[in-house]
Amino acid sequence: MEKKYDVIVIGAGAAGVSAAIWCKRLDLTILLIEKQAKVGGQLHRVGNPIIDYPGIMASHGIQLAETLQEHIQALHIPVLQAEVLQIHEGRREVITEKGSFHCEYLIVATGVKDRLLRIPGEKEMLDRGEQYSTTKEKHRFEGQKVLVVGGGDRAIEGVLNVADIAEHTWLVHRGSHFRAQQRFVEAVHKHPNITIFMQSELTEIVDQHTLKAVRLRVQGREQLVHVDRVLVRIGMEPENQLLQGMVLHKSDGSITVDEFYRTSVPWIFAVGDLVTAPELRSVSWAAGQGMVASKSILLDRMREKG
Ligand SMILES: Cc1cc2nc3c(=O)[nH]c(=O)nc-3n(C[C@H](O)[C@H](O)[C@H](O)COP(=O)(O)OP(=O)(O)OC[C@H]3O[C@@H](n4cnc5c(N)ncnc54)[C@H](O)[C@@H]3O)c2cc1C
Repeated sequence: MEKKYDVIVIGAGAAGVSAAIWCKRLDLTILLIEKQAKVGGQLHRVGNPIIDYPGIMASHGIQLAETLQEHIQALHIPVLQAEVLQIHEGRREVITEKGSFHCEYLIVATGVKDRLLRIPGEKEMLDRGEQYSTTKEKHRFEGQKVLVVGGGDRAIEGVLNVADIAEHTWLVHRGSHFRAQQRFVEAVHKHPNITIFMQSELTEIVDQHTLKAVRLRVQGREQLVHVDRVLVRIGMEPENQLLQGMVLHKSDGSITVDEFYRTSVPWIFAVGDLVTAPELRSVSWAAGQGMVASKSILLDRMREKG
């Protein structure tokens, strides 16, 4: 008969890895499923030092991701590299591109994904893979005209990372003030190579052979600006696709959970950034939630078995 796991965890970011470690520690049989080649999730995008997770001072996110990988290997936690395509609620089945797996309990830790503007030309630009890192791929911005959209830390840090080497940069923000850290905001206002458009929106990314331009609405007036690169940095939203129509959501797309991280379907738990308000998203909170969900599953099983 096909093996049935006590717990399947979807997503090997900080939350999913923590849940898997705790399941292992609690003697629950476990399968961790991750669609990327490496574990760590968003940590691969963190260029700043991580100094706020107890016991580890990581000089960047990848370093912390590598320690997660080592931890999983040391505990012999099985990881399947596959994308989960669907969850079958009635059969307690997780369907991936590499086969289907059954479990008693499911922990969904699929994190967040980039929020999109959903404007003409954006999908084509993303399909061409043109969202480069301003740290690891900084050279791609040299001598370029770069337009960054957003008003939070990622947008402002991004424009500051490239402003010294770009031909020119623009920062476009819909609001009337930035949400980013004060030190970033001050730096961006002082920088001579950054033009700031407040209360403005990007309405179209226009591609004409090699010439690229964007249409902007600057305080109500339309403008065409010629640029080489566009970076959309308007925040992240919960990666909730697998649970849509199955469990209750909040209006921001995050999954509704109880204090034990149980969703409205009792055998499905959800943890990490997928259930967390933006201002609380962090490695320590994600890891803590993984622990709570795993211990709650153990308690639920004990109750069920009397
Ligand atoms: C730029 C930046 C800087 C940050 N700095 C800090 C900091 O200094 N300190 C701090 O504590 N936090 C920081 N954070 C936040 C922290 O990184 C996150 O809160 C934390 O990593 C979230 O972990 P997670 O497991 O919930 O989600 P994620 O890391 O997003 O992991 C989700 C995983 O699920 C996988 N997945 C999604 N869908 C599927 C599917 N269908 N099938 C299989 N796998 C799937 C994804 O590939 C991913 O690996 C920062 C975040 C960013 C972006």
